[in-house]
Amino acid sequence: MTTTWAAATATHCPYCALQCGMRLVPAAGAVPVEVRERADFPVNRGALCGKGQNAAALLAPGVRLTTPLVRDVRDSRGGRAARGELRAASWAEALDRVASGFAAVREEHGADAVGVFGGGGLTNEKAYQLGKFARIALRTATIDYNGRFCMSSAAAAARTAFGVDRGLPFPLADIPHTDSLILVGANPAETMPPALRYFRELRENGGTLIVVDPRRTRTAEQADLHLQPVPGTDLALALGLLHLLIADRMVDVDFVAERTSGFEQARAAAMAHWPERVERITGVPVAALREAARHFGRARTGMVLTARGPEQQSKGTDTVGAWINLCLASGKAGRLYSGYGCLTGQGNGQGGREHGQKADQLPGYRSIEDPAARAHVAAVWGVGPDELPRSGRSAYELLDSLGAPGPDGVRALLLMGSNPVVSAPRAARITGRLRSLDLLVVSDLVLSESAQLADVVLPSTQWAEETGTMTNLEGRVLLRRRATEPPDGARSDLWVLKELAERLGAKGPGGEGGFDDDPETVFAELRRASAGGPADYAGISYGRIAAEDGVFWPCPAEDHPGTPRLFLDAFATPDGRARFAPVSHRPAAEEPDAEYPVHLTTGRVLAQYQSGAQTRRVAELNAAAPGPFVELHPRLAARVGVVDGEPLAVVSRRGRVVAPARVTDAIRPDTVFMPFHWAGPGRANTLTNPALDPTSKMPEFKVCAVRLERTGERK
Ligand code: SF4
Repeated sequence: MTTTWAAATATHCPYCALQCGMRLVPAAGAVPVEVRERADFPVNRGALCGKGQNAAALLAPGVRLTTPLVRDVRDSRGGRAARGELRAASWAEALDRVASGFAAVREEHGADAVGVFGGGGLTNEKAYQLGKFARIALRTATIDYNGRFCMSSAAAAARTAFGVDRGLPFPLADIPHTDSLILVGANPAETMPPALRYFRELRENGGTLIVVDPRRTRTAEQADLHLQPVPGTDLALALGLLHLLIADRMVDVDFVAERTSGFEQARAAAMAHWPERVERITGVPVAALREAARHFGRARTGMVLTARGPEQQSKGTDTVGAWINLCLASGKAGRLYSGYGCLTGQGNGQGGREHGQKADQLPGYRSIEDPAARAHVAAVWGVGPDELPRSGRSAYELLDSLGAPGPDGVRALLLMGSNPVVSAPRAARITGRLRSLDLLVVSDLVLSESAQLADVVLPSTQWAEETGTMTNLEGRVLLRRRATEPPDGARSDLWVLKELAERLGAKGPGGEGGFDDDPETVFAELRRASAGGPADYAGISYGRIAAEDGVFWPCPAEDHPGTPRLFLDAFATPDGRARFAPVSHRPAAEEPDAEYPVHLTTGRVLAQYQSGAQTRRVAELNAAAPGPFVELHPRLAARVGVVDGEPLAVVSRRGRVVAPARVTDAIRPDTVFMPFHWAGPGRANTLTNPALDPTSKMPEFKVCAVRLERTGERK
């Protein structure tokens, strides 16, 4: 049957956590729809960055996968099978191969030897169903997702301080109304440009914007004050600012007394970080520290927003905790136009971490170790609580156990919507781990670098071809609507999970405990599973989302209005008080030394998204950002003897990469920057350090030690 599509479908961008509203209209050419602006969606009011404007290019045949692929096993000499090339296969053959392979590994090595690795771009329905599939179809504890690499430190710190983690506890539209905002390690001018208008409006209203970043980014250029610390020292910087707030009597003593606990310990740590000491650690001059403290401390209202800079560190949780302390001490939390928030990165970074694809979580942001949570979710799934596995290992620990000998080794993996060959830290090692699996299954819409290693590739439908909900960085649950037919060979991940569950002997489709492939049916089950949890979606329906342009969680009942602003009356801790974090500065896991004398920090550029698997396939985006580069200061370039554009080798204890030098005085002279969107000889994550934060298990993407070597080639 041919479907007639509406003249325009209101939906959202497939990329970042802003989830800009857009309209898709039918088109006549190879690409079935065109992207148009949607001025009535309040978050972006019609504005789109280049990634969103060009999003439809990925729908073209030839760009994306349209048939399953399998790799034949040619022989099994020496214990390890030799593998052939990927070839086209039917869906039945591909799914049978996956199910029989998973069953064989489970039989031989135990349930936890089959792993699942999800993604922060999956819809809420897919993330929910993937967690359920792991726990009751595979019975494995081995599940985590790439969102662990995104905002897990902010989540851990916010949960400790406030009792619940939601990226922003207020709508973006509150930003222009605050008096002072500190943006730490965030570059929205490149990562989510339509959000910049909120910061511009803040300044137009007389507010102050302070940016903390080792680079003078396009965002920092718009700030009233730019603090440029050594990578990995944001924690000391926050402690130094708190020291000045205390010393200059800018603490809101009534707020601290009435709404917080633990100030004395935080105070003691801050007093050990006097301005001159902080200048020595961070490189930020005392005068700039004093100016920042004065702006923020004296402002009536204020916000601190962090992103990956302070979070992707081996002390990321403590670092975010220190910035939250600053908000609490100055009374800038739990009040209108004040608070701490995290600018989530991936499209569904927020929802993806709420519904069970994380190693230690069940749907509704429940702990998998909480007996009451286990009983509630098990009842929804139609199993006994004791049948649910316990907490599994975190993303890097999971990836590093792939193919490892012994009882802890994972032998088979389902990878859904993630490309760790490019995005994982110490990526060469992880690539080897993926190669060593008995069975690697990748569900993706393109043949990513990780899919190229797979034994079975399952071509998935995408964004405009399927319906599902996403939760943006504000905690606003949104509806992405299907706007066009998928190509014949592509299938939704929900259908794949249903088919695999049936083949593995889990309950059939539909009803409690089943695996349905209709997104609205899955969402209805998610609502029940989340009911009563911190991220309560019970009152949210597709109809409400459509009518209200998104509903903020928690929303426990259909007559509940949703919760755009959290904590105004009380924090979500047992006693209603926010908790100060007792944190002190410590160095990065790897500091520069004689052999590796320079800091490396990594990040993103405007025209590419995450591992680049999608955006590198879009001609306009590739033309704008065709490859990696090494950004370095002219003084450092002169010391190395490299000129702008010359290939430059960057070497860490984990590997060596080569990319053109980009010489600019926008970066500190002791630091180089590389974007991480590319595979191959310029892959930044070949260099990065997997040292993990002890609480969030976040790897230290944002700082490691490297040396620079001329390659002898001139441009
Ligand atoms: Fe898409 Fe993010 Fe760009 Fe908006 S800012 S168009 S959501 S990539």
